[in-house]
Amino acid sequence: MSIQENILYFDEQLRPTPCRLVAVTKTHPVEVIKEAYDAGHRLFGENKVQELVDKYALLPHDIAWHLIGHLQTNKVKYIAEFIDTIQSVDSLKLLVEINKRAEMYGRTLPINCMLQINIADEVTKYGMTCEEAEALLQTEEYRQMQYIRITGVMGIATNTDEEQKLRQEFQQLRHCFNRLKETFFMGNDDFKEISMGMTSDWRIALEEGSTMIRVGSGIFGARDYSRK
Ligand SMILES: *Cc1c(COP(=O)(O)O)cnc(C)c1O
Repeated sequence: MSIQENILYFDEQLRPTPCRLVAVTKTHPVEVIKEAYDAGHRLFGENKVQELVDKYALLPHDIAWHLIGHLQTNKVKYIAEFIDTIQSVDSLKLLVEINKRAEMYGRTLPINCMLQINIADEVTKYGMTCEEAEALLQTEEYRQMQYIRITGVMGIATNTDEEQKLRQEFQQLRHCFNRLKETFFMGNDDFKEISMGMTSDWRIALEEGSTMIRVGSGIFGARDYSRK
């Protein structure tokens, strides 16, 4: 199927749901991304700062860019001016920097941030425990921040095809979302996103309450890392 057909397919699949599609463009050149854009898609995700900055410059500016990969504090400055959402916030230190840079750039809109929760049992995955996220939200530093807005949680499940395991991890993220919602965001409509599910497991994630699936190869085809 073409990229356009893939976008239309996901549009159809998600239309009856509250879930949105983040089209993950990592490793793919702008000409390929433009095909998804021309099919009407406006929500894209990248996992590396440099690639994101390059693509932002070359593509139309009505795209909402989400950073979905690990973000080092010293790189926030490169994306703070234009980024819509940083899905991979995993420490208070990082959030402090994001807030600071958003203020410096005098943005009219705050930077949307999602707390990345570690739900997989692979030690290499980034993210906080739900308890660490709660601790972050309790700090006075967080409460004073005016240039960021926390819109939800994000998680990356274990790379497995065991459905029960995936379900259990997605449920864990949903429970964390519910807990944070009840404790910190009652009556705050900004906090509404559960970003989970990728090409191999998005259907399961959707069944478990995902509001944002992040799909790369399922739209753009397999990634060729040797190109870079
Ligand atoms: C690459 C990536 C995806 C998309 O992966 P696919 O398997 O190609 O759909 C989703 N989320 C994150 C954080 C990624 O880095």
